[in-house]
Amino acid sequence: MVELIIKRQDGERLWSEKFTIEEKPGMTVLEALFYVQERIDGSLCFRYSCRGAVCGSCAMLINKIPRLACRTQISDVKDEVVDEPKDGVASVKPPGRAEGKNEVLIEPLPNLNVIRDLIVDMDDFYKLVDSIKPWINTDMNSNQKETSIDPSVQLQMERYTNCILCATCHGSCPAASRNKKYLGPASLAKAWRFYIDPRSREEDKDELLKLLDSDSGVWGCDVVYKCVSVCPKKVTPTTAILELREKIER
Ligand code: SF4
Repeated sequence: MVELIIKRQDGERLWSEKFTIEEKPGMTVLEALFYVQERIDGSLCFRYSCRGAVCGSCAMLINKIPRLACRTQISDVKDEVVDEPKDGVASVKPPGRAEGKNEVLIEPLPNLNVIRDLIVDMDDFYKLVDSIKPWINTDMNSNQKETSIDPSVQLQMERYTNCILCATCHGSCPAASRNKKYLGPASLAKAWRFYIDPRSREEDKDELLKLLDSDSGVWGCDVVYKCVSVCPKKVTPTTAILELREKIER
């Protein structure tokens, strides 16, 4: 048996609730939440969709670390010792394991408003991503039918196109917790992805650098690599931020 300690809220009340569940081999945190919802308390709210680490919907704080519930196994986290974060944001690594602890602490993703229980409002996060204009403007009058992309550039971009917009990085970011206007790791990683895309126009790239040249842009980052360590898709936002800083300084 494993205990889930779930932080809950319903708009009026904020409380922690303990649920005892029967652990099955290979059981994920998402499956454990279904266990609670289907057998113990149908009012428990959480978001999910693909169940396969593709949609990014089930990001939450598990033992103080932002992770996807669908790819986190109960057996991997039930004995983790939870480190109390000093700066109000998630720890990157638990300090150790206590065999037989059999307890998992589950909370909503930090740095976003909570709608109910484990469901956060993603609107602010999407607005930040949108603000960097993550698309390619094409010249409609051009006769050019296609652009061939060098495979090495393609490989470089791929590291960033793998982003599933789960906001796990955003939930781990100390700069995002201090400054709601900070664009955050996901938006800045995406900005770099479009900056290096050979199809992006020079004027758009210049405009992008101007937009990012502020304390709410690339200069807001603490360069603590929390976003890199929690990203389930191995995107490296801090690297992107440092590359963008270099371009601005040139
Ligand atoms: Fe999620 Fe990684 Fe994209 Fe951040 S960079 S939103 S952690 S996939």
